[in-house]
This record gives sequence, structure tokens and C-alpha cells, in this order.
Amino acid sequence: MAEKKKKTVKTIKIDLDKCNGCKACEMICSAFHAAPKYSSNNPARSRIRMIREPIRDIYVPVYAGENAKAECVGRDKYVIGEKEYDECVFCRASCPSRDLFKEPDSGLPLKCDMCEGEEEPLCVKWCITDALTYEERKEEVEEETKMDDVGTGLKSLIDKYGLEKIADTIARMSKKG
Ligand code: SF4
Ligand code: SF4
Repeated sequence: MAEKKKKTVKTIKIDLDKCNGCKACEMICSAFHAAPKYSSNNPARSRIRMIREPIRDIYVPVYAGENAKAECVGRDKYVIGEKEYDECVFCRASCPSRDLFKEPDSGLPLKCDMCEGEEEPLCVKWCITDALTYEERKEEVEEETKMDDVGTGLKSLIDKYGLEKIADTIARMSKKG
């Protein structure tokens, strides 16, 4: 049986009414994750994307979550107040049905890491309208092995090309090495 442990759960609360669509969150996230850090910014590499439909007055910041191998069969529509949000708009997954949350050059999935190493997520810090609020709480959870960015990327390559091909490529690269 899995052991129960107290864990700090980090969350970012999103207030849709306060988001003005400025995209500062996308800019700082992509700059923080650039290599080297802050050497460039490209919203396509951001782990938060602001879904924007100015004509319908819709601004929805969405965080990159887990990678999904297949797209969903069923889709939902959301009606909140007077606004109708299209299917998928709140979904955090990087999935085959859209380009969102994929690294533009490699196509590898992107995932929010809560700005690991920083005291507070940078998108929260840079959001001047306070649409984003950082919260921490303690929760009892079953202990799990969490995959880091390298693990997530490798798993996605294995899903795409198969273990054998990836193992061959790594073996060839290490010989050249
Ligand atoms: S918490 Fe950090 S990694 Fe996550 S979306 Fe915000 S800036 Fe990007
Ligand atoms: S920085 Fe804040 S107001 Fe600007 S797009 Fe992001 S969430 Fe919205």
C-alpha cells in the first residue's frame, strides 16, 4: 500500500474577471525558461498561454499541465455568466489536437514547473492586475514518483518513435560523444 505523506500543494488561482489580456505572464515565463535564462522571450515557449478573443471580451490564462497522447472523444462547452467558452479552452493538456504547450522547434510537451527555484511564480509576480494569485496548502497524498522535464520529454519521444529507436539513437550519440 502506498504511504501517505504531507505534501505542499502549490496552486495559482485565476480570476478571469481581472485578466486584461496583456500577456506579461507569457513573456516572463518564456524568458525564465530560455537557455540561457532571460536570453530571449517567445510566447510559444511559455508554460502559460492567454487564450484571447477580444471581440467576445474573453481572456483566459491557462497553465500547461500533463501531456496527453490522444485527443478527447467528448468535448465540453462552458457558459459562465454571459460568456460562452469554446471546447478545450480551459484544458491544460498538450495534446495532438492543437499546437498549444509544445516546444515550437522540437514539438516536445511543455509543462508548468511553478518556476522551480523561485520564491514565487514569476507569472504571478508580473501580473499587475492580480488576476493570478499564488497559494500553498498542505495535503495528505500518496507518495508518488514525479517525472521531471527530462523524463516527460523522453517519455513523449518513446511514445512517438518507440523505445528501440530512441535507445539506438542514444547509443549512436554516446559513441560519437
Ligand atoms: S508558474 Fe512559472 S513556469 Fe508556471 S506558467 Fe508561471 S511563469 Fe511559467
Ligand atoms: S499577466 Fe495577468 S492580466 Fe496579463 S494576460 Fe497574464 S493573467 Fe492576464
